[in-house]
Amino acid sequence: MGACFSSPTGGGSTDAEVLFFPDSAGMPCRRHLAGKECRRANCTYAHADTSLVKLLRRIDAASKTLDVCVFTITCNEIADAVVRAHERGVKVRVISDDEQANSTGSDLRAIADAGIPVRTDAASTHMHHKFAIVDGATLINGSFNWTRQAVLGNQENVVIARDAKLAGVFAKEFDSMWGKFRGNEYAGRGGGGNRA
Ligand SMILES: [Zn+2]
Repeated sequence: MGACFSSPTGGGSTDAEVLFFPDSAGMPCRRHLAGKECRRANCTYAHADTSLVKLLRRIDAASKTLDVCVFTITCNEIADAVVRAHERGVKVRVISDDEQANSTGSDLRAIADAGIPVRTDAASTHMHHKFAIVDGATLINGSFNWTRQAVLGNQENVVIARDAKLAGVFAKEFDSMWGKFRGNEYAGRGGGGNRA
């Protein structure tokens, strides 16, 4: 398959992993994701540690904070991992693009409905970042939008770096945008008020 690649850079304080997409093995089996053995003889989902599985495990490893700043989120598996983090007490914040927020298949509403504060830009330009910070110390960043299309179809890259200094630079930018987008709380298509 060779759809993903990971390598420690070594030689410094940065511990990095690089993921490449698309995942040619397909979407992961939920039982495999949960660390269980899949006994379904006809299960067509992937039972390998695909790039998506590796990314999901990083999100699942969050124990204190998870700051997500991604242009578009339509991949249910990733949205579920973000909601799981919130449900286990991780302080989650999400910034996304205002136009993508209401596009077909967007998972932002489900994320907001779970009680996670979500803010967007309010401009004709795009909030085009694709990064996330786990526990203030691990940066997830690359071309990869959090979409099924990016998982299964696109050539994409994600660098996951455990580097507090690097993550801190992005955290500062996240906080700056979080303040700037105050008042643009996203509450889903059905409304529901200010969750921030
Ligand atoms: Zn399976």
